[in-house]
Amino acid sequence: MKLSFPFDPVERAEESERCVMKNRKRLYHRFRPAPYYGGIATADAIGCSFLCSYCWNYKRNLYPERFDKYYSAREVSANLLKIARKRSFHLFRITGSEPVLGINSFNHLLEVIKNIYQEIPHSIFILETNGLILGYIKDLTKKLRFKNLWIRISLKGVDHDSFERITGAKRDYFHYPVIALKELEAQGVKAWPAVMKDLFTEEEIRRLKVFLQEYDIQAKLEYEVLERYPFVLENMEKRDFMVKKREKV
Ligand code: SF4
Repeated sequence: MKLSFPFDPVERAEESERCVMKNRKRLYHRFRPAPYYGGIATADAIGCSFLCSYCWNYKRNLYPERFDKYYSAREVSANLLKIARKRSFHLFRITGSEPVLGINSFNHLLEVIKNIYQEIPHSIFILETNGLILGYIKDLTKKLRFKNLWIRISLKGVDHDSFERITGAKRDYFHYPVIALKELEAQGVKAWPAVMKDLFTEEEIRRLKVFLQEYDIQAKLEYEVLERYPFVLENMEKRDFMVKKREKV
């Protein structure tokens, strides 16, 4: 996919969706048990509206057309359920990508979630999203009113400037993930914001918290941990970001 920075992320979402969705099937890279959250059945999908400098799935999200394994929602949920049953997990997620790129990918996601709840009603699905399309097409949030759905919205930047440098997307879209959060809170859905703390000063984090308060966001801000792969550090440098050294504990 052709890309020049900064790009329009809504257009990129549409283009990505055309590439990663085929007849209600979505492009996936693999299915695996992952240690996060104490153990979670994980599907690694491909395709995103952003292109974050620290994305561990950077190349696949940049060149989705190079991959060709499409799975139906039924196949995805069956793969995840198999992993969960084998490992006694009750948590599920899709990661490495943006699950919601538009209506088609959203419907695919809903079907995966519903299939899982049908098989294991007490299971928890953690939706990891950048929140762009959920904020842009606010009505979608109304369809996410499931009791056991938890939604983590990664804010990427603390302000317009850092958002643009991290995601590669135009700065004007910075507030859409916050709109998504506000809508979800209004719908009574469990949702919270997250940010990569390693990239920002205490003062910048404080200002982000004030910004969230101005939107009347009630949920607590989660801190993400940067996976310092060499290609990630290289990409960060290219986008003019110095990564802070970790404090010793
Ligand atoms: S939003 Fe997530 S999946 Fe998309 S590019 Fe950024 S880190 Fe990768």
